[in-house]
Amino acid sequence: MSGKVEVDFELCEANGVCMGIIPEVFDLDDEDYLHVLTHEVTPENESQIREAVRQCPRQAISIRE
Ligand code: SF4
Repeated sequence: MSGKVEVDFELCEANGVCMGIIPEVFDLDDEDYLHVLTHEVTPENESQIREAVRQCPRQAISIRE
């Protein structure tokens, strides 16, 4: 499949759960601001991105198909 990772920064509380699952996609900087390093969902990263979607306690991550 293909899709785009989206984060609702109004919801994100910068707790780093997503970065702990897949740091290649989600990165928290020193000021606790979350950066999405790549928005592309690929066969290689899809399952971990979906896990991050499931585990984000704020439900801030979505995949736009
Ligand atoms: S897991 Fe959710 S709330 Fe936590 S940093 Fe990632 S997007 Fe933000």
